[in-house]
Amino acid sequence: MATPRNHPSLAEQVEELLAADGPLPIVTAGDPVLRRGTERFDGQLDSALLARFVEALRVTMHAAPGVGLAAPQVGVALRIAVIEDPAPVPEEVRLARGRVPQPFRVLVNPAYEPLGAERAAFFEGCLSVPGWQAVVARAAEVRLTGEDEHGRPVDEVFSGWPARIVQHETDHLDGTLYLDRAELRSLSSNEAMAQRWTRPTPHEAAEALGFELP
Ligand code: ZN
Repeated sequence: MATPRNHPSLAEQVEELLAADGPLPIVTAGDPVLRRGTERFDGQLDSALLARFVEALRVTMHAAPGVGLAAPQVGVALRIAVIEDPAPVPEEVRLARGRVPQPFRVLVNPAYEPLGAERAAFFEGCLSVPGWQAVVARAAEVRLTGEDEHGRPVDEVFSGWPARIVQHETDHLDGTLYLDRAELRSLSSNEAMAQRWTRPTPHEAAEALGFELP
């Protein structure tokens, strides 16, 4: 009699994902893995497998392309995300949105808390919700705590666009999608974004679509 196969461990699941070369498939909204929340990373992957997984997340984020990717977005319910933003944007956009370059970082067991009451509202999108963008008001500045990929403690303040990225990615690890926090009346297709909402701030969109900005 065959022994029933146990639920694969996270390590087995990651090994299986990494068996194919190249970018990993990105799961999209509607997949429960994006809603379940994640296990804290506590050595479920040994250091060699963790390094390979982080590299696969980096390759997948670049290929998409995106400025952040959380493990649940490739179907892995672990509290790990990567971020990187070369910020190839015009000066006026950089100034209005604080979109400064963010070097590659691995966030392990991250958590954030707002610093101060200032909010910033801009259009953002998500690789797991392809084709759409919406305005999200987020804390302008946050304190991020957690670890890096080597287990070293992280305690750092993020502002501008990098603050938005770390909030978006950390939210993924708690089963939250940006749409949960968005002004739904701002929801715009990529086509509408390219045609209409290319200005550095969403003020015109707020007036035309009828939503509030902080
Ligand atoms: Zn996302």
